[in-house]
Amino acid sequence: RLKHGRALAEDVWSIYNAANLPADCINLGQGYMNFAPPEWVTNAAKEALGVVAANHYSHPKGRIRLRQALKKVYDPQLKRNLDVEKEILVTSGANEGQYAVFTAFLEPGDEVIMFEPFFDQYLASVTFNGGIPVYVPLHPPANATGQFSSEEWKINPDELRSAITPRTKMIIVNTPHNPVGKVFTRAELEIIAALAKEHNLLVMSDEVYDTLVFDGKEHVRIATLPGMWDRTVTVGSAGKSFAATGWRVGWLFGPEYIIKPTLAATTRIVFCSNSPLQEAAAAGLEQVQERKFFETQTAEYAERRAVLTSCFDSLGLPYTNPEGSYFILLDVSRVKFPDDYPFPPSVLGRGRDFKACWFIAIEIGVSSIPVSEFYCIEHANIGEVYARFAFCKDLDTLMHASERLEKLK
Ligand code: GLN
Repeated sequence: RLKHGRALAEDVWSIYNAANLPADCINLGQGYMNFAPPEWVTNAAKEALGVVAANHYSHPKGRIRLRQALKKVYDPQLKRNLDVEKEILVTSGANEGQYAVFTAFLEPGDEVIMFEPFFDQYLASVTFNGGIPVYVPLHPPANATGQFSSEEWKINPDELRSAITPRTKMIIVNTPHNPVGKVFTRAELEIIAALAKEHNLLVMSDEVYDTLVFDGKEHVRIATLPGMWDRTVTVGSAGKSFAATGWRVGWLFGPEYIIKPTLAATTRIVFCSNSPLQEAAAAGLEQVQERKFFETQTAEYAERRAVLTSCFDSLGLPYTNPEGSYFILLDVSRVKFPDDYPFPPSVLGRGRDFKACWFIAIEIGVSSIPVSEFYCIEHANIGEVYARFAFCKDLDTLMHASERLEKLK
């Protein structure tokens, strides 16, 4: 199983890791913040460290305070009265939660549909658990010039329908989408939901960027569409919500028959997520409403997005303006570099985008992520056009990066 695809190759996050790049390279690669979580949340973490029980194992379902805080925030959004014992599971980051779902549900040879490009972790997590990934394209607009909205990346319902076979077990939905930034519309989710119901499929809805949706767009949760709660597991993350990606605290919501076996899997994989930071995430969620935290945070991210989009406007290269998440795809097919540039071995032999991103990181001083990694090997050439820039950084850093990127003109 580990031989499947590029699972054994060095992964993109390790290659473009800040540790491999010059110290003064500005990191717009892997999506993590260069600012701290809010102080009232880190204070709660410090407080938890002073409580003996919070330094020890939690119940594998997650600490009750966090499950209750999740219920408070997510009941209205999921239009449910969530059962904190049976329908909520805290996981060691969203990644581990998704892995545990695959462990719980995939039989060898089961097919899992994902929209391509896809967050790279899905491919390895599905194949490590014996599943077979099946790819359905998200189509960018043809002949794009300049800025275009992530909503212009479209699914073709016929392609989705014809990807379904008797072996299909699950569809992975990711909205807001990494790396495209697309926020799936209600109409698109209704198409996916209708097919899931017609073919009796599970849906894994990765919504870790749910608090980062811009321009008043509506984040629709597929679990809220008629008949969909019963077949959907919804994924969320403290890392994205509270600028704490290294905490590894995530969560799942779903019906008992999905959560129960997933709990069994997660109990064996990690036993429980780390305890003091669950307490801190709980404190965070308990206060978001009264502090209007997510509203303020979204406005800050919209400002950060604007810094990079105005830079990319001035470059005159095509790029996707994201409706959600904190990623921008820039078309780097016109960025030139010498063929004999001294690329490291991990970059040689990969797509053109790997070279472009390396060259931009070393010569311009801004790192990004090559997007062919978000395509399967067979379709990697489609992604080779793009580099993904993360804007989860403070404004000064983004302005400094923009000045450097002007050299791409
Ligand atoms: N979600 C992060 C990103 O896309 C990466 C996280 C990871 O698993 N490496 O940048």
